[in-house]
Amino acid sequence: MIYVVGLGPGGAAEITPRALSALKKCDLIIGYKVYVDLIRPIFGGEKELIVSPMKKERDRCEEALRLSLSGRTVGLISSGDPGIYGMAGIMLEVAGGRTEVEIIPGITAASSAAAILGAPLTCDFAVISLSDLLTPWETVTKRLRAAAAADMVICLYNPASNSRPEHLARAADILMETLPADRPAGWVRSAGREGQERCVTTLGALKNQDIDMFCTVIIGNSVTRVIDGCLVTPRGYRE
Ligand code: SAH
Repeated sequence: MIYVVGLGPGGAAEITPRALSALKKCDLIIGYKVYVDLIRPIFGGEKELIVSPMKKERDRCEEALRLSLSGRTVGLISSGDPGIYGMAGIMLEVAGGRTEVEIIPGITAASSAAAILGAPLTCDFAVISLSDLLTPWETVTKRLRAAAAADMVICLYNPASNSRPEHLARAADILMETLPADRPAGWVRSAGREGQERCVTTLGALKNQDIDMFCTVIIGNSVTRVIDGCLVTPRGYRE
C-alpha cells in the first residue's frame, strides 16, 4: 500500500486530519528533504524516514513501489497537494496497478498564498508553472498569453530558481504585451513556514523583486484591486 500524501504549505496546523491518519498507518515515510523535515517533529521518533534527492522523482517512486511490494505501508509525501505539480501522477504511472495507491489531497500553494494576500482567486484563474524542466518554454509562453487574453487571474508556481532566475522577468514581459504594468499583483514566500513573507505590488514591479522558488505569485485580472493592503478580485455578481 502506498499513500501519496499532501502536507499543505508547511505548518503543522495545515496538514489535514486525513493526511495525518494516513501517515500514522505507514511503516515508513519517503520524500524530498524539505518535506521530510516538515513532518520530522510529528513522526521522527516512531517511523523510518527516508530522504530522497530532488529531481529524482522516478527513483523515489520506484523505491516506494519496491518497499510496498515487500509488504510495508509506504507514505510518499509532497508539499501542498500531491496532484498539483506533485508526485501523484508519476507514482500511479510507476505502480502500474502492481500495488494499491491512495492519493490524499492537501492545501495547495495557490490557496494558501491567496489567503495570505487577501482574496484574489474569487473568479476564474489559471495556474501556470514557470519551470521548463518538464514543459518546454514555448508552451509556457503560449499559456501565459492565453491566460492574459482570457482576462484570467494568473497564479504562477516555480517563478524562479537558481538555475533560471530570469524566468519571472521574462514572463512579466510576455504578460505586459497585453496587460498594464500597474495591474495589481502579489507574492508570498514560504507560506505557513518559518520566514513567511507577503508583498502586494504590481505586475511591472515584479521584475525588480527578490522572488525565488519558495514564492507563489498572483497577478490580478482587470477588476482586481487593492483594499486595505489586500489583493481582492470582486466576486463578479452584477450590481
Ligand atoms: N505540490 C505543491 C507545488 C509544488 S511545485 C502544491 O500543491 O503547493 C513548487 C512550487 O510551489 C514552488 O516553486 C512555489 O511556487 C509553490 N509553493 C509550494 N509551497 C509553497 C509555500 N509554502 N509558499 C509559497 N509557495 C509555495
